[in-house]
Amino acid sequence: MAAIFEYDVVIVGAGPAGMCAGMYAGRAMMRAVVLERGFPGGELLNTELIEDYPGFESILGHELAEKFHAHAAKFGAEFRTGSTVETVKRLDDGRFATTTDTGDRYLSPAVIVTAGGTPVKLGIPGELEYAGKGVSYCAICDGAFFRGHTIAVIGGGDAATEEADFLTRYADKVYLIHRRDELRASKILQKRLFENPKIELIWSTAVERAEGDENGLMTTLKLHNLKTGERRDLAATGMFIFVGFKPNTGIIVDHVTHDEMGYIVTDANMETSIRGLFAAGDLRSQLTRQVTTAVGDATTATIAAEKYLKSLADGAASRPRSARAGATA
Ligand code: NAP
Repeated sequence: MAAIFEYDVVIVGAGPAGMCAGMYAGRAMMRAVVLERGFPGGELLNTELIEDYPGFESILGHELAEKFHAHAAKFGAEFRTGSTVETVKRLDDGRFATTTDTGDRYLSPAVIVTAGGTPVKLGIPGELEYAGKGVSYCAICDGAFFRGHTIAVIGGGDAATEEADFLTRYADKVYLIHRRDELRASKILQKRLFENPKIELIWSTAVERAEGDENGLMTTLKLHNLKTGERRDLAATGMFIFVGFKPNTGIIVDHVTHDEMGYIVTDANMETSIRGLFAAGDLRSQLTRQVTTAVGDATTATIAAEKYLKSLADGAASRPRSARAGATA
C-alpha cells in the first residue's frame, strides 16, 4: 500500500553520486533516504574494470559499487530499492514531494537528484551481450583495455569524432562507422579525425549485429552498407558507441535551468535554480562525467543541503535568488 514518508533529504539514484551523498548525509546525522530502482551502483555496474579511481589501481565496477554501498550504509544511509522515482515536485509549503511508481511519497525540504543519464543504445543484437566484453559507451573508462587492438567507433557527432581520435592513443586501428556520408561533428574535430592516420571512415553503414568467440568476447561486427546494400564482416574487438546521451532529468516537474543539451545547471554548491533542489553526477552540466567528479559533486551537494536545512531551521532561508548562479524564473 502506498505510504507517505518524511526525511530531511531525499537522494534520487544510487550511483556513485547518490551513494556518496548518502554517506555524507549519514555522517551529518541527517535523516536521509537513497531511492534506487535497481541495485545500488549505477554506471559502475555497467563497467567491467575501473582503473581511474584514486586508491584503486584496478577494481571491478561491481566491487567498487559494493564498497560504496557498504560505506554509505555504515554511516546510516537508508537505501530503498526496487521502485522507480517518477516525479520530484516542489510543494506550496516549500518542501518537495518525491513520488515513486508504487505511489509512495517522500516529503523533504531538500532533494539531491543523482539520477545520472543513459547512453543512447544502438539496439542491435549482441550490443547488450558484449557490453563490458567489447562494447563500451565510455572511451576514458575503457580505452586502455584496447591497447594494440582494432576497434570501431559508432556515430558521426562530436562525441564519436572526438573519442575516435582519443582512442588512437591505445588502439592500433580505429574504424569510425557512420550511417550517413557526412559527419555532423564540428569542423575542427573532423579535421583532426581526417588527419589521424590510425582512423579509417566507413560511410553510410549500419552495424547490424555484434558477434563474439567461445570466451564471450566480441570479435566481429556485421556491417550493412545502406547505399549499396552490401553486407560484410569487420574484425574488431571493441565497439564504442556514441550515438547520443540522455540525462535523466524528466522526473523534475517544475522548470529547472538546464543547458542546451538538457543537463541541469547548478551553482558552485550544486544547487539548481530551484531552492533546496541539488544535482550531482552525470545529469549535471559540466566538462566531464567520471566517478571522481560524481563523488565530488555529491560531497558538495550534501554539505550544501545540510547548510540549507540549518538555514531553514534558523529561519534565515531568505537569501536573494540572484545570489545563485544560473537561477531563472
Ligand atoms: P549527436 O551530436 O546527437 O550525434 C549523434 C550521432 O549519432 C549522429 O551522428 C547520429 O547520426 C548518430 N546516430 C544517432 N542514432 C544512431 C543510430 N541509431 N545508429 C547509428 N548512428 C546513430 O550526439 P553526441 O556526439 O553525443 O553529441 C551530443 C552533444 O554534445 C552535441 O551537441 C555535441 O556538440 C556535444 N559534444 C561536444 C563535444 C566537443 O565539443 N568537444 C564533445 C562531445 C559532445 P546522424 O548524424 O545521421 O543523425
